[in-house]
Amino acid sequence: MSDADQHDFDLVILGGGSGGYACALRASQLGMSVALIERGKLGGTCLHNGCIPTKALLHAAEVADEARESSKFGVRTTFDGIDMAQVNKYKDAVVGRLYKGLQGLVSQRGVTFVAGSGRMTGPKTVEVDGVTYTGRNLVLATGSYARSLPGLEIGGLVMTSDQALTLDWVPNSAIVLGGGVIGVEFASVWRSFGTEVTIVEALPRLVPSEDESASKALERAFRKRGINFRTGIRFASVSQDQHGVTVTLEDGSTLAADLLLVAVGRGPNTADMGYEEQGLAMDRGFVLADERLHTNIPGVYAVGDIVPGLQLAHRGFAQGIFVAEDIAGIAPPALDEAGIPRVTYCEPEVASVGYTEAQANELFGADEVQSVEYNLAGNGKSQILGTAGFIKLVRRKDGPVVGIHLVGSRMGEQIGEAQLIFAWEAYPEDVAALIHAHPTQNEAMGEAHLALAGKPLHAHG
Ligand SMILES: Cc1cc2nc3c(=O)[nH]c(=O)nc-3n(C[C@H](O)[C@H](O)[C@H](O)COP(=O)(O)OP(=O)(O)OC[C@H]3O[C@@H](n4cnc5c(N)ncnc54)[C@H](O)[C@@H]3O)c2cc1C
Repeated sequence: MSDADQHDFDLVILGGGSGGYACALRASQLGMSVALIERGKLGGTCLHNGCIPTKALLHAAEVADEARESSKFGVRTTFDGIDMAQVNKYKDAVVGRLYKGLQGLVSQRGVTFVAGSGRMTGPKTVEVDGVTYTGRNLVLATGSYARSLPGLEIGGLVMTSDQALTLDWVPNSAIVLGGGVIGVEFASVWRSFGTEVTIVEALPRLVPSEDESASKALERAFRKRGINFRTGIRFASVSQDQHGVTVTLEDGSTLAADLLLVAVGRGPNTADMGYEEQGLAMDRGFVLADERLHTNIPGVYAVGDIVPGLQLAHRGFAQGIFVAEDIAGIAPPALDEAGIPRVTYCEPEVASVGYTEAQANELFGADEVQSVEYNLAGNGKSQILGTAGFIKLVRRKDGPVVGIHLVGSRMGEQIGEAQLIFAWEAYPEDVAALIHAHPTQNEAMGEAHLALAGKPLHAHG
């Protein structure tokens, strides 16, 4: 029987993004027959409209900054501007190579890839173009879409990240609605490309889910970079003509720019897929799943952005792998949402794992919490790079480190060790005893723990 004729599988997965394809790869590794149904491109948002293309733009932005500022390092260059066609070619080539690699992987592992839009027609069945695929288990992984606000219509010069990623011109000016991860990343890219950027954020600070000190540091750095922002104020309306957009805020003030990027979060992609009809428990469009990612329907799992929580690709990967192993009877331990590393890749980067100081105070009581900030001014490699920032550690008094917060160029790369420290419930004294290579930015991680263990080395003040 050819793949095309086979309709019964151990596992049917609806959605081939981070969550869905990770589940498919792991399940096939564990010997299951798998059908992976995808209506767009294998790889989903992360590969085609999210993580990878934005990080390629951010890298181009970093190159632009370096070219512009190279004389500081004694290197003579002239910065002649941004060739958006070439930037996009580079970005698309990166995505293209990864896409090809992923397609190869899925076919090598014997996963049956079904191209088309699927609809859940029963507790074990999905229909695609009139053909029913049946699985002993079903995994829902249909991802998310860029949300807008009521009355804020997307079109023309009012766009979401989807359109912003395909722009073939550099705006002279841009308004970014939303100071969360996606908003600040685009603001950062455009500023490096020479755009006048203003971010509008309804909450009192940029990256509002991060520790307050990280928000303050980012705001300071953005101010220095000439990125404007208005926090604690809501959007009221927008109008556009062929010259640009005019945004009115709730206090009646207006902002004009070439375009408006709407980056107010992502909603679950779950409408019209048969979920409600099958009796799936949902909340405001999200699929409810327990800590083992079981939905209320036996044999039906949900992973990735449709499950309430952090909308991150590596959470989707981890959940996909978890579900495959759970179905295979390996009984993996439940994933700890607080232990998922979070990186915002703007310049400077903001990264964290575990709890903010405010969350720790609430969880354990303020008397039970201790924190320290290690300033990157004392870190040789950060000085070489010319970046400012810090590592903030939050610990339980006489207990383990429960939160790590990083700000600074390239500091996102340090989140790996931070994650181990949090997940392994390390004490500052444990980490202080480990030797960190000199001169690296990683050394700052060791120094911060030395400071928290009461024996600071290169710490001032
Ligand atoms: C601009 C941007 C930047 C981002 N940057 C990062 C980052 O740096 N790091 C990070 O960790 N995360 C990042 N994310 C988030 C990350 O992309 C998502 O968390 C991740 O893609 C979620 O994976 P998923 O599998 O749940 O959904 P998706 O990747 O959205 O995949 C779902 C797939 O299901 C398919 N599908 C939906 N409905 C059907 C149907 N009925 N039939 C068939 N197929 C269907 C879709 O076509 C899609 O391919 C970013 C997101 C955006 C938008």
